Amino acid sequence: EIKNINKNYFNSYSSFGIHRDMISDKVRTDAYRQAILENPSLLRNAVVMDVGCGTGILSLFAAQAGASRVIAVEASDKMAAVATEIAKDNSLLRNGVFSEGSQQNGVIEVIQAMVEEIDNATNQIPPQSVDVLFSEWMGYCLLYESMLTSVLYARDKWLKPGGAILPDTATMFVAGFGKGATSIPFWENVYGFNMACIGREVVEDAARVPIIDVIDSCDIVTTTKVLQAFDLVTMQPKQMDFTAEVELEQKLNNSTGSTLDDITWCYGLVLWFETGFTERFCREKPVMLSTSPYDPSTHWSQTILTFREPVPMTSNKVAAVGGKDCPAVKIQSRISIVRGSQHRSIDISIELKGIGSDGQ
Ligand code: SAH
Repeated sequence: EIKNINKNYFNSYSSFGIHRDMISDKVRTDAYRQAILENPSLLRNAVVMDVGCGTGILSLFAAQAGASRVIAVEASDKMAAVATEIAKDNSLLRNGVFSEGSQQNGVIEVIQAMVEEIDNATNQIPPQSVDVLFSEWMGYCLLYESMLTSVLYARDKWLKPGGAILPDTATMFVAGFGKGATSIPFWENVYGFNMACIGREVVEDAARVPIIDVIDSCDIVTTTKVLQAFDLVTMQPKQMDFTAEVELEQKLNNSTGSTLDDITWCYGLVLWFETGFTERFCREKPVMLSTSPYDPSTHWSQTILTFREPVPMTSNKVAAVGGKDCPAVKIQSRISIVRGSQHRSIDISIELKGIGSDGQ
């Protein structure tokens, strides 16, 4: 079954559209490009491995940055063949032959294999011989697709002790969103007619399945908290399954002064992530790749988790006393993310508690 899931997964990367979408995501591609091109002391003369090279775009950057050997690994046979052709057409293929018949000696070699299944003897890659390992492995909600497991596997097998991994940090964030980010306002007034019943049904469905969409930062009604931070240098695959607790408070609206007396309704939680190419390895030019609603949007959008019932919130400590039905000054949430039995999926669960100012 796992074999089939992998087959479907790599097939999905055989269509060019998905690669076009990733390359066209300028926030994403420019972050990698900057990290690779603007840190010459890291890349120059380095042996590099690109885990999941796709079209080979990151490997081409690495060749441009002066790497001495670029090992581009790609499981999809279609994409591995295409990446080889592209490296050759740009005169960057190692031991390649020009169409006129003359040898070319570029630095890129493409290996068609899952990174877990590279044959090291035929490919002549000694264990722990790679100076810089990079990959664009991030999925929706960071961990969807679980490709990170493959990157960690490659790190342990191929990276030199003390070698660089790009990106080297990944951080997940959480905040609460208001009604404006739901379908409710749209259906409340359709050419003057009330179609709110549709909005209610859409929100009920959303309480079961997360939605991947862009949230406008104005619709965030709480403070933002770090949900989980990963250090790619040291993390172990089992850390991909975690439970974290965060407390969110009403966000005070800076433009209107304060919302001290207002009640805002929190309709759910939104998750996003950042990956860092930090000064640990990128000394000349550290780079941050953000998928935050406060930054320009990316193809990852954000992950929207809707509550069954919205939670009223206030910053007014007087209003927030009196038990169950009063507005909360804090939403306490316990969020678990675990890799699903479906192997490439993830399961997200949330437990919520509204806390009044009397702590109840
Ligand atoms: N590096 C490219 C493509 C990123 S998409 C870019 O930045 O545009 C991820 C790619 O990794 C896909 O092409 C997928 O087929 C490949 N991939 C995923 N898991 C892999 C694994 N375990 N071994 C080899 N390739 C893998």
